Amino acid sequence: MASKQEKTKSIKERYSSGEQKSRHAMAEFGPGKREFIFCPHGEAVYFKKSWHHIAKFLRSYETRSHKVYETWSRKDVKFRLCPAHEMMKNKQYEGEVIIKNVPAKFRRELLNLIENMDERAMRKDVLDRVLGIKMAGNRLLTTTSENQLAQRIASKIGEVFKKQVAMKISRAKGGDIVRIEIDFNQF
Ligand SMILES: [Zn+2]
Repeated sequence: MASKQEKTKSIKERYSSGEQKSRHAMAEFGPGKREFIFCPHGEAVYFKKSWHHIAKFLRSYETRSHKVYETWSRKDVKFRLCPAHEMMKNKQYEGEVIIKNVPAKFRRELLNLIENMDERAMRKDVLDRVLGIKMAGNRLLTTTSENQLAQRIASKIGEVFKKQVAMKISRAKGGDIVRIEIDFNQF
């Protein structure tokens, strides 16, 4: 069990700078480096060995901002896509929620629900988020950076539309991608 978990690193983990990185990456991100990496999209900052929400970064540096900014040099500040945007760029995801036969009257409500879940997840962990959301006919397709977020979105929808939907969860073979199908016409 434990060995299986080790083997299946999530996409996010693979993109994140961390323990399992190559020596090159270790040199770039390794301990002792006083470095800040900003995602060009402006929402995520890498410092203290992990990615954080920009709000958290500002909060933690606000009080001693003068000193910190004074000591920054160009070498300390880099720009690079955060793992979530990297996944987005490479059209990768780990969770997928496919809502079929969406009644027009629920479309807005579903979009709001997903957007709220996205925001809440991202505030907790800046790399945990919705990567894509689109309507295709009467289907609503959502992809997420973590499969747990897809599961949380699905169970929230199940909670709100209890008697109107049926749900089916499948896991991609040999991978971590979780696909959840929700059908308003039921199966
Ligand atoms: Zn980003």
